[in-house]
Amino acid sequence: MSRRETRHAVVLGAGIAGLLTARVLAARFDQVTVVERDELPDTSVRRRGVPQGSHINAFAVHGRRIVEELLPGFSDDMVALGATTMDLGADFAIRHPFGWARQFPSELHVVCGSRGLTELVIRQKVTGLSNVSVVSQSAATGLVGDNSQVDAVLLRTTDDDKAVPLTADLVVDATGRGSRAGRWLAELGCRAPVEETVDPHVGYASRIYRIPAEHPTGWKACYLQLGPNQPRGGMLLPIENNQWLVTLLGAGPDQPRREDDFAAFARRLSSPVLAEAISHAEPLSEVVANRSTTNRRRHITDTPSNFVLVGDAACCFNPIYAQGMTMAAIAAVLLGHCLDQRPGLDNLAHRYYQQARAKTRWAWMLATTADARSPHTDGPPLSAAQRIAGRYLDRVLIAGTEDPEVQSRFLAMYNMLQSPTSLLAPRTVLRTYRATRFAANSHQSETAARLPEPGTSLSVDPIDR
Ligand SMILES: Cc1cc2nc3c(=O)[nH]c(=O)nc-3n(C[C@H](O)[C@H](O)[C@H](O)COP(=O)(O)OP(=O)(O)OC[C@H]3O[C@@H](n4cnc5c(N)ncnc54)[C@H](O)[C@@H]3O)c2cc1C
Repeated sequence: MSRRETRHAVVLGAGIAGLLTARVLAARFDQVTVVERDELPDTSVRRRGVPQGSHINAFAVHGRRIVEELLPGFSDDMVALGATTMDLGADFAIRHPFGWARQFPSELHVVCGSRGLTELVIRQKVTGLSNVSVVSQSAATGLVGDNSQVDAVLLRTTDDDKAVPLTADLVVDATGRGSRAGRWLAELGCRAPVEETVDPHVGYASRIYRIPAEHPTGWKACYLQLGPNQPRGGMLLPIENNQWLVTLLGAGPDQPRREDDFAAFARRLSSPVLAEAISHAEPLSEVVANRSTTNRRRHITDTPSNFVLVGDAACCFNPIYAQGMTMAAIAAVLLGHCLDQRPGLDNLAHRYYQQARAKTRWAWMLATTADARSPHTDGPPLSAAQRIAGRYLDRVLIAGTEDPEVQSRFLAMYNMLQSPTSLLAPRTVLRTYRATRFAANSHQSETAARLPEPGTSLSVDPIDR
């Protein structure tokens, strides 16, 4: 696999996208340099350049599996450092606007830890590779080259104002949502990328608690989902060191913000389970808020062939769908494939973007369709296709309150193991139709009694199952 016509790759940003890309490039370049603005800690402590580190940042199952392939032992190392494991089917209580999803033993396993721990484990593994080095406390400030080729990146250290060039055969921008790539490309004489945004106006607020001796049984994590008629949500996830990370979510004007309204906001969610759980738990952190939830993708049509954007710099999603880190992993692997498809770097960026667009299509569609159904979202109105897809998804969710097979299909899709079209498999359509028709027609049945009108909520506690 190692094709070494080219020598030095520079990756800007040591977040998840940057580190995984560095891992992929290490197998294809003589030397990989990761440039990071922050000082990188030896622990899982939160750092400034990753403000999402205070909030739930969990890999979808597909993402975790890719990381495991790229960096064998990732999950074991997480667990060795205190992360917990969870069966998403059995241990994760999910309440959506139609009620509690059915819980059942599944093959969908995740490792739960803080973002800081996830990044630490990945960072240790990547920087342990012999041809990867990290230049920290250095910010990339621009590119040297022209509209066909980049020759170097300009770096400025935090305590020195003078930017110095670092020469590179390939430059990858993994600097996240705040990427300046548009400006850098314009400075090289390229047309600026066209940006597409859908802003759901969702706000996060999170706090860490010590897991109390007496805590709910029947689930390890719970998720009270936002929905078109449900502007508030929350999630509780066990992380390392016997802690719960609790993230509250609000769409529109009703957003969790501060310490003094955190518990009150939790009590206004669609079920009391989360508020009750934390009412007995000792808070271990401040409440930290985040409003960076806009879906944004950059369409790059004019670019030097050896400059590529990956991760949030290229396309970021409303994080409530937990897609970003998995998409970052997919992008890293795709870049490796593009390098393997053809020797040299000719036309690399165009070839990469063409394929990346196809890879991000479903994730983008899922996030923006769900967001477009919220009255608080700024973006294009729902298309007819999105309206139909949304209604069918509602039916799948309703069926998933009763039928573990349908719920299992939904979870596989949600965890990016299957595309959304997998929910149109004849067997799933039939079971969905049966479950929802039965609910609609049989008012005497227990199932029907537990299925409310769309948009209202049930008070079935998953602990009772
Ligand atoms: C509140 C919130 C919750 C989220 N929850 C989830 C979740 O549950 N699951 C999930 O999959 N995804 C989640 N995401 C998204 C996920 O965090 C990102 O998609 C993923 O980490 C990929 O990000 P990245 O590596 O591209 O960018 P980032 O993680 O933002 O990393 C960018 C890095 O670049 C560095 N940098 C920035 N500018 C420069 C510069 N000029 N020079 C050098 N370095 C620079 C930064 O310091 C940082 O280290 C969440 C996001 C947010 C905001």
